[in-house]
Amino acid sequence: MKVIQYTEIVDEVSRICQEANFDLAEDVVNAFKESVKTESSAAGKSILNQLIENADIATSNRVPMCQDTGVSVFLVKLGQDCHITGGRLEDAINEGVRKGYDEGYLRYSIVDDPITRKNTGDNTPAVIHIELVEGDTLDVQMSAKGGGAENMSAMKMLTPSAGLDGVKDFIMKTVKEAGPNACPPLVVGIGIGGNFEVAPYLAKKSLFRPVGERHPDKDIAALEMELHEAVNRLGIGPQGLGGDTTALDIKVETAPCHIAALPVAVNLNCHASRHKHFVI
Ligand code: SF4
Repeated sequence: MKVIQYTEIVDEVSRICQEANFDLAEDVVNAFKESVKTESSAAGKSILNQLIENADIATSNRVPMCQDTGVSVFLVKLGQDCHITGGRLEDAINEGVRKGYDEGYLRYSIVDDPITRKNTGDNTPAVIHIELVEGDTLDVQMSAKGGGAENMSAMKMLTPSAGLDGVKDFIMKTVKEAGPNACPPLVVGIGIGGNFEVAPYLAKKSLFRPVGERHPDKDIAALEMELHEAVNRLGIGPQGLGGDTTALDIKVETAPCHIAALPVAVNLNCHASRHKHFVI
C-alpha cells in the first residue's frame, strides 16, 4: 500500500495548472510546425507561425498562451493500493487548482451558478473524473479547456439506422457550424456509443491522447485518419481564415451501447490544446 500525502497532490496539481497554461505541449507545437509545411494558404501559414511564436513567448515569459485559461478538467487513474492521507482527493485537486491559478496569475473562468453567474474567484470547482485501477500509483491528467471550443461542441442521440454515415455527417456538420468560433486549428474529440452521459465523456477523454497518436484499434485509427482528411477539406483553416489546417488531429473513442441507440458526441478543442500529466 502506497501512502500519498494530500499536500503532495496539491503541489503537483498547482504545478501542472501553471505549466498547462505557460508551456504548450510538444505534440501540439510539433503539429503546428508540421502543418506550416503543408498549409497552402498564405494567411493560414502566417497564423500557424504566429501560434508557434505565441507558444514561445508564453513559455519564455511565463504568461498564459491565451486569455481564456479554461475549465480545469482532470482524468484521474487511482490505483486501488494507494492510500491518500491528510484529506480527500477531490479537495486536494481543487486546492491545487486554487493555488496554481492564484500563483500563476491565471484568469478565473468559473461562475458558481449558471443563472446568477458570480465568479468563484479561484477557478474552482474543477471537473474531476476518477477511475479506480489496479496498482499503487496516482496518475493525473489535466486539461485547461477553453470555453469557445467547448461552446461549439455537440451531442446527438442517433438511431442505429443512421449508421456510420450518419455519425460522419453529424461530425462534419458540427465542425462546419463551429467555423472560426472554436479557434481552429482544432483537435476534434469524438465519442461514439455508450449512452447520453458516456458519449461526451468518451469525446473529452479522447482529447487527452497526444496529437498524432492513433487509436490502437486499426479500424478506429483508419476512421480517425479519414475524418481528419475530410475535416481539413472543409477549408476553414487556421483561425477560420481559410486553408488546409482546420484540424491538427481527430480522436475517436467508442463504447458498447443500447440496441436502439447510436449516441455520438463531438468535443472540440481549440489550438490552445493544453494538457499536462503527473504520476505519483
Ligand atoms: S477557445 Fe481556446 S483559443 Fe479560443 S479563446 Fe478559448 S482557450 Fe483561447
